[in-house]
Amino acid sequence: IRKPVVAANWKMNGSRQLADNLLQQIQESGVDKQLQVVISPPATLYSYIDEKIIQNKLEIILAAQNINELDKGALTGEISAHLAKESGCKWVICGHSERRSLFNESSITTAEKFVKAQSVGLKPILCVGETTEEYEKGKTFSRLTAQIEAVLHIGGKTAFKDCIIAYEPIWAVGTGKPASPELAQDVHRFIRGMISSVCPTTAKSVCILYGGSVTPENAASYFAQPDIDGGLIGGASLIPEKFIEICQTAL
Ligand code: 13P
Repeated sequence: IRKPVVAANWKMNGSRQLADNLLQQIQESGVDKQLQVVISPPATLYSYIDEKIIQNKLEIILAAQNINELDKGALTGEISAHLAKESGCKWVICGHSERRSLFNESSITTAEKFVKAQSVGLKPILCVGETTEEYEKGKTFSRLTAQIEAVLHIGGKTAFKDCIIAYEPIWAVGTGKPASPELAQDVHRFIRGMISSVCPTTAKSVCILYGGSVTPENAASYFAQPDIDGGLIGGASLIPEKFIEICQTAL
């Protein structure tokens, strides 16, 4: 019942040219017809990519990298959920570890973004994960519990009904040191268990992605785990051949 998701998070990288290349290779491979292929580019590329998706009848899902939790106002440089939606986004990443750590976004702010996204019909991808220090001190589960409870607190028991969750241990993001598939599976099972305790049917349907140094070489070992439903890909998503290979691994 859970269709695999492979999502490209370009972060502050990419260009129109990279978008053209990636879209062309996705079209040639046909992976967008077989799984949920997501591209999350910088905001300046939302409309550009959305138009190409429509023109070429691609089934790629465009995702924003971030939104502001408010509807509008004097917030220079920010983008609302409505604006992201108007630019063609269907999904939005909420609470990526870089937003949390580099831009001081709390679990409460993240939960507000999550709820705002759902209110305009954008599907949130909630990113959760622990720091190196938390990992070393054995605090992974308590960190994740706090991050997930923040969403339950603001969004209520049905908050996870229409969303994606991504587990991205910070120590594995961009480091070339991925979590082992077994560790990731343990954490994913824990997350699904948490959702199950508030909403058992949602727990069965919600896709939980692993992110952190996923490559074409290691992707299969994650996708083989029972509670890992796909990946959130950073560095490797900037190389179309690698991203397509990861998508094909998830089929
Ligand atoms: P890397 O794949 O570069 O480790 O990045 C993961 C990530 O942060 C995706 O959101």
